[in-house]
Amino acid sequence: MKQYDVIVCGGGTAGMMAAIASARSGANTLLIERDGYLGGTATYGLPMLGFFSGDGCKVVGGLPQEIVDRMVSLGGCMGHSRGGTWNTSSGEYNYDFSLTSYDPEILKIAAQEMALESGVSILFQTVVIGAQRKDGYISSVELMTVEGRQSLMARVFIDATGDAGLAWTAGFPTERRGEGKMQNVTNIIRVGNVDAERMVNSLMEEGVIKGLRDWHIRLLRGKLLDGGEGYLFLAGHAEIWEDEEPVTFTGTCWRKEEMAFNITRTVGVDPTLAEDINHAEINERNNINAVMKGLRERVPGCEKAYLISSSPRVGIREGRRIRGIYTLTEQEVLGSSEFPDGVARGAYPIDIHDPKGGKTQFSFIKEGGSYAVPYRCLIPEGSRNLLVAGRCVSTTGKALGSVRLSPCCMALGQAAGTAAAFTAKEDVAPAELNTGLFRDKLLEDKAILTISGS
Ligand SMILES: Cc1cc2nc3c(=O)[nH]c(=O)nc-3n(C[C@H](O)[C@H](O)[C@H](O)COP(=O)(O)OP(=O)(O)OC[C@H]3O[C@@H](n4cnc5c(N)ncnc54)[C@H](O)[C@@H]3O)c2cc1C
Repeated sequence: MKQYDVIVCGGGTAGMMAAIASARSGANTLLIERDGYLGGTATYGLPMLGFFSGDGCKVVGGLPQEIVDRMVSLGGCMGHSRGGTWNTSSGEYNYDFSLTSYDPEILKIAAQEMALESGVSILFQTVVIGAQRKDGYISSVELMTVEGRQSLMARVFIDATGDAGLAWTAGFPTERRGEGKMQNVTNIIRVGNVDAERMVNSLMEEGVIKGLRDWHIRLLRGKLLDGGEGYLFLAGHAEIWEDEEPVTFTGTCWRKEEMAFNITRTVGVDPTLAEDINHAEINERNNINAVMKGLRERVPGCEKAYLISSSPRVGIREGRRIRGIYTLTEQEVLGSSEFPDGVARGAYPIDIHDPKGGKTQFSFIKEGGSYAVPYRCLIPEGSRNLLVAGRCVSTTGKALGSVRLSPCCMALGQAAGTAAAFTAKEDVAPAELNTGLFRDKLLEDKAILTISGS
């Protein structure tokens, strides 16, 4: 059976970074992905939110910044756009709203280029379906490839499947919020022939798009890929259907006349249950049809809009997480907590999409700051050669509302990949790793672990 130093399961937002970091740190690394491209949920058309904190500090660097730079050089990203303002509901301070908008097709290209250049072996269209485990060690993962079942061995494994699929199938303890308590799911749609300026005018006039003075509203103008300036982001409540409550939405642009909408939702879905996820896919397809009709009929700027694409799967905000040797809480997120073993930073407010379908709720980090995610959140309880990255690290359900944003997930991927390579080389368990040494390596690789003064 073929053996690697490190096998990364899931080539999404966190997994692509984990594999690149592992390979660059000298480990013979395999990345396994069920779809035919890298980038996962980060390719659905949404902007990266959280490279900067609300007080304007840069909190994510390293590999996540490198992939942004790569997309810029490939002509698919304008870099970070800053200068938006978000008035918090408390009114105590202004939150500096920034984002990184990009063409998701270019992310797929950038990620694959960086992974192959770094020496990562990739196995696409392969699903991790099981694991052989003895005591705290995973010896091999079982895969379904296009040639049927196969097993592969590694010294260290990284679970970057989004829903802790590897940790769960290997029998390590996992957590998920109870029935009806998980954030709703959404299919992100890309829509063409949209006039964002007219949509914003409708918001300014309190027309069909509402909520001008509402805390949810964020507007950001910046450079577009096809030249000139325009709205890159609009968040509002649209009265898509007459006599019905306005629908909360965000619209993201990277080209003039093209907008990715985060607008549909299906509630009451546990994405780890086959029946629920099947219902979500069917319901979201119907929602897309209804929303497109409503946009065309009622929203200024969308009269001639057409559907370009829908995301390949419904987007999952919250599912299964590991129970780690440390669990990050919402109090720690909101209180800008620091940890001696901090390996990544988050800065976006806790963003909870109401499990019952109401308006999105935000809780803002103290003074618009940021927080550290401890390395211990990446280590499943009882495991000896497994690390986790992305939205399945160990947090409370509410803390996840901030950690789940893509810059933080990518930074967690870099941390997990670097730690896995060190673990494989030194033949120790992830929990026994000299955190000082591996944090130095992260700093050398331009990761941001602390903010001066914190
Ligand atoms: C609707 C929605 C809107 C969002 N909006 C924003 C936003 O505006 N800005 C922002 O920064 N963040 C946003 N997020 C959050 C962010 O995009 C995700 O939380 C983040 O991308 C998750 O990263 P991940 O690596 O944990 O998971 P993913 O990126 O989903 O990666 C998991 C990967 O594992 C693969 N996989 C899963 N199971 C297996 C298996 N058994 N075998 C092989 N491969 C497997 C999947 O195919 C996927 O590629 C949004 C999320 C959603 C759902």
